[in-house]
Amino acid sequence: MTTYDLVVIGSGPGGYVCAIRAAQLGLSVAVVEKDATYGGTCLNVGCIPSKALLHTSEMFDKATHDFPAFGIEVGTPRLDLPAMLAHKDAVVEANTSGVAYLFKKNKIDGIRGTGSISGPGKVRVTDTVGGTSDIEAKAIVIATGSEWTPLPGVTVDEKRIVSSTGALSLPVVPKRLVVIGAGVIGLELGSVWRRLGATVTVVEYLDRILPGMDGELAKQGQRILAKQGLTFRLASKVAGVDASGDVLKVAVEPAAGGTAETIEADIVLVAIGRRPFTEGLGLAETGIAVDDRRRVIVDEHFRTSVAGIYALGDVVRGPMLAHKAEDEGVAVAEIIAGQAGHVNYGVIPAVVYTHPEMASVGRTEEELKAAGIEYRAGKFPFSANGRARAMLEKDGFVKVLADAATDRVLGVHIIGPLAGELIGEACVLMEFAGAAEDLGRICHAHPTLSEAIKEAALAAWFKPIHL
Ligand SMILES: Cc1cc2nc3c(=O)[nH]c(=O)nc-3n(C[C@H](O)[C@H](O)[C@H](O)COP(=O)(O)OP(=O)(O)OC[C@H]3O[C@@H](n4cnc5c(N)ncnc54)[C@H](O)[C@@H]3O)c2cc1C
Repeated sequence: MTTYDLVVIGSGPGGYVCAIRAAQLGLSVAVVEKDATYGGTCLNVGCIPSKALLHTSEMFDKATHDFPAFGIEVGTPRLDLPAMLAHKDAVVEANTSGVAYLFKKNKIDGIRGTGSISGPGKVRVTDTVGGTSDIEAKAIVIATGSEWTPLPGVTVDEKRIVSSTGALSLPVVPKRLVVIGAGVIGLELGSVWRRLGATVTVVEYLDRILPGMDGELAKQGQRILAKQGLTFRLASKVAGVDASGDVLKVAVEPAAGGTAETIEADIVLVAIGRRPFTEGLGLAETGIAVDDRRRVIVDEHFRTSVAGIYALGDVVRGPMLAHKAEDEGVAVAEIIAGQAGHVNYGVIPAVVYTHPEMASVGRTEEELKAAGIEYRAGKFPFSANGRARAMLEKDGFVKVLADAATDRVLGVHIIGPLAGELIGEACVLMEFAGAAEDLGRICHAHPTLSEAIKEAALAAWFKPIHL
């Protein structure tokens, strides 16, 4: 039987990054993956394919709406959906095979099969035809990720009633798409199909979109998305979907209770969230504790309740984000190798890749108010930014929240062009505990979108120049 220093179960961004970091630090490593390709949810059916479709559908939308104003005449753009989907699949393939290459380069053994923990230091692998083999490990990392959360009364068939996975590969543009859930995934995939021609209705149980995101940002985001054509049914719940006829009949009723009404749809996307995936891992048998949301419980060093077994990524507490999983992967590998691995949960950005994008890092105004922290808010609109005007990207703003007493930046929230790229600057500043004045005094290239961040910082500290 082979004994490894580390066996990682799951090859998503948490697992594969952990494996690579551990191998770099000199450990012998194996990764057990049940799916045919590496990369987990993120590379196969999550971040990467959704961003490929968001990019291409945005180009399609721009060609239709912005090109004439730019003085570019191309006629009416025609959609070649199979080619668009093929591009997405090619991007996925390049990324997943990239992980296979990195495993080889770092001498990591990739083992195809479903892993279960048969005891401390013991992993049993069941291959695709039911054969089993056992491997031993000085340390085990659970990185089994998450799966979409089902909605009672709505049966996903991945054809007409789809999860995010089905929504990434619809063979034709639906006439009417109903999205259940106004979270990140629902809004991103709703945007994709709206741009390609679908009429999209988003039904959300809460009275706002994007729960957890800064309220002002979410409100502005809703206004802009509604202007683009998304219809929002907030404070509403889907009681069921009747799939017996050619047309799907979605029963929608007020969240507080009341009369249901029917919305007709060709496709329904269930996007109400994700839950940890631990099926068949043998957690109960091994005595690994989980919480009431089925998340594997870990301490601040990512140790589970059983010695030598660690967990990270979507399967543990914290935001379900690929970069959070990756950073935890690095930290866990370093801890196992005897170093001081650490993740700063106060500086984990979150991005919604709609158009415009929305990006946040640090605390929201609501959180600061609830914590009784005095702060100053500095805002700067993209309509006053020269580069944004040139790009016809005037919607949105940057908001910098700074501690009223110390001027330390506590949160940055951006809705606007390339917000997901712009937020990186705020992360660097906050990681180094920078102040709004620091950010406002840093020289920013002109004309760039990033000048809006500088101006918002100046507004939080004293006064902006260009407003
Ligand atoms: C549509 C969509 C879009 C998203 N977009 C973004 C985005 O833009 N940015 C972002 O940060 N996040 C995004 N996410 C979330 C992101 O995909 C997850 O946070 C991330 O993949 C979590 O990484 P992970 O390594 O914890 O788990 P996963 O990526 O879920 O990987 C877990 C792996 O473990 C394997 N596995 C599970 N059980 C076993 C077992 N017993 N044996 C062997 N293998 C097993 C699975 O097959 C899988 O490959 C998106 C998710 C979806 C669904």
